[in-house]
Amino acid sequence: MGGPEMIKVACENCGANIDLDALSVATKKKLNKRVECAICRNARVAKDMDMLTQMFTGIYEEETDFSELRKKLKPSEPAGIF
Ligand SMILES: [Zn+2]
Repeated sequence: MGGPEMIKVACENCGANIDLDALSVATKKKLNKRVECAICRNARVAKDMDMLTQMFTGIYEEETDFSELRKKLKPSEPAGIF
């Protein structure tokens, strides 16, 4: 009977009124997480993804010299085995 109890809260980022279920609001507050609307959350997630992508791209570019990498991994391998 009945779904989660919906309450009105203000987005802590832009101040928009949003309907959230009381349980997830309580959980967010307990974990000191921001209560935010879908737009702000999506914007933040997109920004996080950009940062992650940049981070991984950076790491990847550092290791694109595979011949050097192979020398490091198999220093004593006789030539011509591949
Ligand atoms: Zn917002």
